[in-house]
Amino acid sequence: MKVGILSFQGSFLDHSKSILSIGATPVLIKNEADIYDLDALILPGGESTAMKKIDSYLKVFSVLDDFIKSGKPTLSTCAGTILLAKEVIGGDTTIPNIDIQVTRNAYGRQTESFEGSVSFYDNNDIYCFIRAPKITNILTDKVEVIAKHNEEIVGVKQDNIVALTFHPELNNDKYYLNWLDNFIKEGENVRTL
Ligand code: GLN
Repeated sequence: MKVGILSFQGSFLDHSKSILSIGATPVLIKNEADIYDLDALILPGGESTAMKKIDSYLKVFSVLDDFIKSGKPTLSTCAGTILLAKEVIGGDTTIPNIDIQVTRNAYGRQTESFEGSVSFYDNNDIYCFIRAPKITNILTDKVEVIAKHNEEIVGVKQDNIVALTFHPELNNDKYYLNWLDNFIKEGENVRTL
């Protein structure tokens, strides 16, 4: 299985370690030519404004948009989730594919980054929130809530896309890796049209 990871900047190397540890092959996406024959896609955390700027030169987002719409499993974390949101408060929409509104930097500045207890499907663990966005509105009933921190929504699924605001790739706990393995293997069946 080949999993493409957007690798302009941010936590792409951590995601590639997760992918290696489940026996799949990470492909670091820096150019359009890297988006070939992939089984799944990861959009990592980092800085969404920087990613957008880099893409104005490298121009891979429109090809990624086609890939996502083809129904292949797509995971986003943090800045990656901002890229996919249909509405962005405090920023721009980029490759809108998921019916959520996010508010950038909603917990405050970098010093307000924290570790918090998260329910992710039926598991609980402590995960990092690094100058994270908040999911401040769910725009359609196509969106399923899959992760919460206290009463706040921190992870959603819509068809073939799972979008999180925290960083499971920094834990690589067994539950997450097992979920990731199943998610990327579900292939096109993951989309319920
Ligand atoms: N604050 C970043 C942004 O707005 C997201 C932070 C992250 O990905 N950890 O893009």
